[in-house]
Amino acid sequence: MRISFLGLGHMGLPMAQNLVAAGHEIVGFDVVPAAIDAARAAGIPVVDSGQDAAASAEVVITMFPSGRHVIDAYRGSDQVPGLLAVAPAGTLFIDSSTIAVDEAREAHALAEEAGHRSLDAPVSGGVVGAENATLAFMVGGSDEDFEAARPILEQMGRRVVHCGGAGLGQAAKVCNNMILGISQIAVAEAFVLGERLGLSHQALFDVASNASGQCWALTTNCPVPGPVPTSPANRDYRPGFAGALMSKDLGLAEQAIDLTGVDAKLGRLAREIYKEFAAGAGAGQDFSGIINTIRAESA
Ligand code: NAD
Repeated sequence: MRISFLGLGHMGLPMAQNLVAAGHEIVGFDVVPAAIDAARAAGIPVVDSGQDAAASAEVVITMFPSGRHVIDAYRGSDQVPGLLAVAPAGTLFIDSSTIAVDEAREAHALAEEAGHRSLDAPVSGGVVGAENATLAFMVGGSDEDFEAARPILEQMGRRVVHCGGAGLGQAAKVCNNMILGISQIAVAEAFVLGERLGLSHQALFDVASNASGQCWALTTNCPVPGPVPTSPANRDYRPGFAGALMSKDLGLAEQAIDLTGVDAKLGRLAREIYKEFAAGAGAGQDFSGIINTIRAESA
C-alpha cells in the first residue's frame, strides 16, 4: 500500500520503519530537519512537505505531539493547504497521536466533510513497543475503516482493538491511563507507608502481588528496586513511560471528565500530582518515580 507517515519522532520513526520492513511503499515527512535526517538514515524515503506526502497516498498516518497539531495539519491555513484538501478522495486517515476525545471527534468530522475515511488509533507500549512492533492500538471509527486499517496496524503492533465509533479509541486510552496514573500513586503510597511501618519492600510485594492489591503498577512497574528487576526503579527511574507523558495523558483525562461531568475525584487529583511531578525533575523520569516525591513530602 502507498502509505504516508507524518511525524517521525520517538514513536513515528520506528513505526514507519516497521511498515517499510513489511514491504509497504512508504513516504515520510516531519517538520523538524533532524527528524528528517534520522528518517533518511533509517531508510525511510522522505518528501518535502506534508502536502507532498498526502497527495499520492492511499493511507495517511499521523503521529504528532498533540491534537492541535493534528487539526492544524488536517485543516491547513491561509498559506498552506491542509492534508485533507490535497489527499485523493477516499484516503484513509489514521491518527495515532494521543489527543483529546473531542479533538479526535473534530478530526473525524473534518475528514468526513472532505470526503475521506478516518480512524483514531492511539497506542500504548512506548518506544520499545514501537521498535519491536508490539504496540497496542485502540481504534475508533467505522467497522469498514477498521477492517481496512487492521492489516497495517498489525504490522506495527501486537494487539489491535476496535473500541467503537469516532473518538472511542482515544476514550479507551484516556480511561486506561487514568487507571494507571491513579494506581501507580496508590502503589507508591503503600510502599512509603510500609517503609514507615517497618515492612520490607519484598514482604509487601510478596503479599500484595498475590492479593487484591495486585496490579500492573505493582507487578510490572514496581516503584522500588528489587522485587521486579526489570522495573524502572532498578535503573534510577529511567523511563519507561515518562512523567511528562503521564501528565499529558491525565490532562486529556481531565478534559474528558470536564466534558462528561463525571465525579472522578481521584482522576483529577492524579492529574494535579503528575502535573507538579512533570514540572520538576519528573518530566524525564519514569512516572513510578512519583514515589520519591511522596517519600520526600512525608513528615
Ligand atoms: P515526538 O515529539 O518525538 O514526535 C512527534 C513528531 O511530530 C515530532 O518529530 C514533530 O516534529 C512532528 N510533527 C509535528 N507537527 C507535524 C506536522 N504538521 N507534520 C509533520 N510532522 C510534524 O513525540 P512521540 O514521543 O513520538 O509521541 C507521538 C505521540 O504518541 C504523542 O501524541 C504521544 O503522546 C503519543 N505516545 C507517545 C509514547 C511515548 O512513549 N513516546 C507512548 C504512547 C503514546
